[in-house]
Amino acid sequence: MICRIAKTNLEDLLLDPGKVPVEVRKHVEDCAECRHELATLESTMLALDGWEAPEPSPFFEARMAARLRAERDAPPAGFFERMRARLLYSSNLHLRPMAAGALALLLLIGGGTYVGVMNSNQTSASSATVRDLQSLDENSQVFQQLNTLDQQDDESDSGQSNSNL
Ligand SMILES: [Zn+2]
Repeated sequence: MICRIAKTNLEDLLLDPGKVPVEVRKHVEDCAECRHELATLESTMLALDGWEAPEPSPFFEARMAARLRAERDAPPAGFFERMRARLLYSSNLHLRPMAAGALALLLLIGGGTYVGVMNSNQTSASSATVRDLQSLDENSQVFQQLNTLDQQDDESDSGQSNSNL
């Protein structure tokens, strides 16, 4: 039991021993298993301290900069292009067949919608004049109602101002 408590404190024992309760410190000194674990952790930490990231090759930065410039100057990719790249080059390799299917479905739906829009535009073109006349008629009704409301407001306003005077 005390071993388990001690093991959760091993990191603190190395980094900040003052934080660790005295009984835990005493236990680790006495217990061979905990001492061994502490030593292992310490050697791991020392190894990590000495570890250095490898230097990139001298041409890496130049190539990276050139690549970034090319990417920046390239025309922005369209929606389907980006979608395709994302689906095809994502790390989920097992999802690729499914993704391709989804893309095909998306294109089908998108194409269908496009055709539908084109058709509806053509059929409604002939009745556009009729619809314009109808909307004009509706608008004139609305304007009439607004005028009536305005007149009522004016009357009540003048009535109030008269009473105030
Ligand atoms: Zn122990």
